[in-house]
Amino acid sequence: MFSLIQLPYAMEALEPVVSAQTLSFHHGKHLQAYVDNLNKLLPGSEYNGMALEEIVRQAPAGPVFNNAGQILNHELYFTQFKPAVEGGQGPDGALAAQIKKQWGSMEAFKADFEAKGVGLFGSGWVWLSADSDGSLVITQEHGASNPVVRGLKPLLTFDVWEHAYYLDYQNRRAAHLSALWQIIDWSVIAARYE
Ligand code: MN
Repeated sequence: MFSLIQLPYAMEALEPVVSAQTLSFHHGKHLQAYVDNLNKLLPGSEYNGMALEEIVRQAPAGPVFNNAGQILNHELYFTQFKPAVEGGQGPDGALAAQIKKQWGSMEAFKADFEAKGVGLFGSGWVWLSADSDGSLVITQEHGASNPVVRGLKPLLTFDVWEHAYYLDYQNRRAAHLSALWQIIDWSVIAARYE
């Protein structure tokens, strides 16, 4: 059985980028519902007792995949944030070097990532992941999917389901995505890359 992760910061900590109201609904209602739904589906199923990532890798399209995928996605999403820093702080070390090698600059990477988030039709997630040789790749995942189904290691994600931003930004998805850089904790992303 799975339980709702505790947020590693206060509900108000991500303001003004993400309001306490949005965070409260997103974590306490949306994510809680995915946890409750999966816990109802697991007993008696072949996925009972499996780790979350294994369930996402193995379950076919359907309710188990959707709820497990959304739990995995949101756990990686909520644990990548920290209180807003003026101007944001980029990564350093191997991750920064790889971004520079592939995109030329942090600004070019951010523009590419935001464009793929804005361009994703409907509900889903935009991800930065690493492949087995350390190369970075941006993917658009629809619905509840996660880059682990492609054999990639997920590093960073923006949730582009409307519930992630509609209370604060209404239809302005691009404005929400460009603001999210201010609250990314790059030490978390770099640790996932190592
Ligand atoms: Mn969400």
